[in-house]
Amino acid sequence: MDIPRIFNVTESAHRIHNPFTSKKFATLGEALRLEPETRVLDLGSGSGEMLCTWARDHGIRGTGIDKSRLFSEQAKRRAEELEVADRVEFIHGDAAGHVSDEKVAVAACVGATWIGEGVAGTIALLAKSLRTGGIILIGEPYWLHLPPTEDVAKGCLAGSISDFLTLPGLLASFGKLGYDVVEMVLTDQDGWDRYEAAKWLTMRRWLDANPQDELAADVRALLTSEPQRYATFTREYLGWGVFALMAR
Ligand code: SAH
Repeated sequence: MDIPRIFNVTESAHRIHNPFTSKKFATLGEALRLEPETRVLDLGSGSGEMLCTWARDHGIRGTGIDKSRLFSEQAKRRAEELEVADRVEFIHGDAAGHVSDEKVAVAACVGATWIGEGVAGTIALLAKSLRTGGIILIGEPYWLHLPPTEDVAKGCLAGSISDFLTLPGLLASFGKLGYDVVEMVLTDQDGWDRYEAAKWLTMRRWLDANPQDELAADVRALLTSEPQRYATFTREYLGWGVFALMAR
């Protein structure tokens, strides 16, 4: 089981697989006022940066599940590096339908809401693992400005304009699902650059090292087109944030 190999190539050097920086995760951890021993579940935990740094900085205990074998291994290594391997556990697996045995105080899905087939389904899934009064974290894109055409939405790698909401629309949608938005930390263009531009050097180095690989032509095409596509579309039109929710 794994995610499409192209992501394991382009994001192999990322510690955070989202337009968030380590500073933003630190801001979010502080904003949530995490207490030591707080239990956190993270569906689509990537290379584990959120759980590992929160274990180091706040003494939380965490479980992360991720479908990428590479990212899951990187998460385990990161836990050892930060000396929190006794506090966090990373499971390589499919998080779809995953409910924790023990209820958690914080249940997160940060940039992987397809796991529950969308935001509403992912909130419903996370709620099954959450103790009463707990916090759900959803990391999700939103439109900074509504794209004027469907082509612009596709340029942002969205299927259509309707895939995402504006920030006020997204906040209102959480209310309609019966949740208070109790905190949020939003990224900025610099955060987007760290996520997207970091792929370019990774791709270039990978291409130089793997010219005969079956993915080489795809990676070459991406490296050629991505900087312009990103600057024209995603960087201009897409915002991204993590939203903290509590059931009303
Ligand atoms: N939350 C992490 C990773 C976000 S990227 C971070 O902030 O860095 C999305 C992640 O979802 C990737 O790590 C990918 O491997 C993982 N993923 C995709 N489909 C999944 C699934 N069905 N179950 C578990 N993880 C999945």
